[in-house]
Amino acid sequence: MRYDVAVIGGGPSGAVAAAILAHAGLETVLVERNLDNVKPCGGAIPLGLIEEFNLPAELVEKKLSHMRARSPKGRVIGMHMPNGYVGMVRRERFDRYLRDQAGKSGCEVMEGLVSSIDRQGDSFIIKTLNDKLPPIEARYIIGADGANSKTADQLHFPPNELKVIAMQQRFRYTPAIEKFSDIVEIWFDGEVSPDFYGWIFPKADHLAIGTGTEDHKHNIKALQKRFVEKIGITARPYLDEAAKIPMKPRRSFTGDRAILIGDAAGLVTPANGEGIFFAMRSGKLGALALIDHIKNGSPLDLYEKEFRKLYAPIFFGLEVLQSVYYRNDRLRESFVAICADDDVQRITFDSYLYKKMVPAPWSVQMKIFSKNIYHLLKGS
Ligand SMILES: Cc1cc2nc3c(=O)[nH]c(=O)nc-3n(C[C@H](O)[C@H](O)[C@H](O)COP(=O)(O)OP(=O)(O)OC[C@H]3O[C@@H](n4cnc5c(N)ncnc54)[C@H](O)[C@@H]3O)c2cc1C
Repeated sequence: MRYDVAVIGGGPSGAVAAAILAHAGLETVLVERNLDNVKPCGGAIPLGLIEEFNLPAELVEKKLSHMRARSPKGRVIGMHMPNGYVGMVRRERFDRYLRDQAGKSGCEVMEGLVSSIDRQGDSFIIKTLNDKLPPIEARYIIGADGANSKTADQLHFPPNELKVIAMQQRFRYTPAIEKFSDIVEIWFDGEVSPDFYGWIFPKADHLAIGTGTEDHKHNIKALQKRFVEKIGITARPYLDEAAKIPMKPRRSFTGDRAILIGDAAGLVTPANGEGIFFAMRSGKLGALALIDHIKNGSPLDLYEKEFRKLYAPIFFGLEVLQSVYYRNDRLRESFVAICADDDVQRITFDSYLYKKMVPAPWSVQMKIFSKNIYHLLKGS
């Protein structure tokens, strides 16, 4: 059978794209390496995403509107989101739900590790390591196969920058750590991460604790161990997980009859490492552009243009923030001090929840600008 579209990778980006394509009547196949895959992930998603994709309440284990940011010297800033919350999901359930939705829309879901993709006339021939699966033929291809995308390699897309590695451990609640069960805590502390941050995310029956750092520069396991010690946890984790995060969009993620979405395209924001939102949004934008291309002949690269138009300012702003404030502990101390400001919190959270840059009145902008300058001079 020849499919209209083959989606490689059944994470959030691929599952969303496959559901939309199948729903539009295109013959669609989703090929996932391991249908029981548990993607290493904190699973924090903004309210705006939950609303847009109509995610069922039972998937969102916690709705958290309180956060704490901790500085290198141990200064703790309380932060509050009056207009929304961060939703906590568990990837094994979340991904399965999204793949089921794709199946219900009419997409064929298959298990197999894609090992090669070849062009043959106006088709792609996709081979997997699953002996029982014959080669798959498709007219179009969507690479949704994560940070180390095989699709991107096989189709010669420009490289992904895989600079950050992140590790996370899951701890079942004990009386000693119960106090973290209703609040997100973020640690800006060079001992926990010299160039990123550490997080404590509460789930229904466990805490997810993790940290990230630039790959090869620091030992992620040692950083994670120190983080857990600093929090004061003596219990053993029941799961260790780690993966790379691509925090820069590829130079191009649209090709000839092929596009990349989600991590495969490098769509994770710097500074906060948020990728689920951009995976699902790029899955949706990519699928809609592909449908328009197939049905009406519109250029396929409208997908990439639209994505960049919507989100390039956010990627740019967060890249600047990370490169300015994550350099050393004095600057991190200043960063946490700035986070104490009510206006900074309001602007940050409003932008986070719906991914729209929220303009602030001039007086507030000037105040925040002056605080930044003051703290930058102090921190340097
Ligand atoms: C430790 C950690 C914590 C994170 N925490 C958060 C967070 O709290 N919030 C947030 O928004 N983001 C977080 N992220 C980022 C987020 O996990 C990713 O951005 C998101 O999963 C991207 O979704 P995706 O569908 O593009 O790719 P993925 O979720 O990586 O899915 C790719 C899929 O492709 C499959 N696949 C790979 N290769 C092949 C192949 N050759 N053939 C077939 N299938 C293949 C994989 O099995 C996988 O299911 C975190 C990342 C890490 C590493």
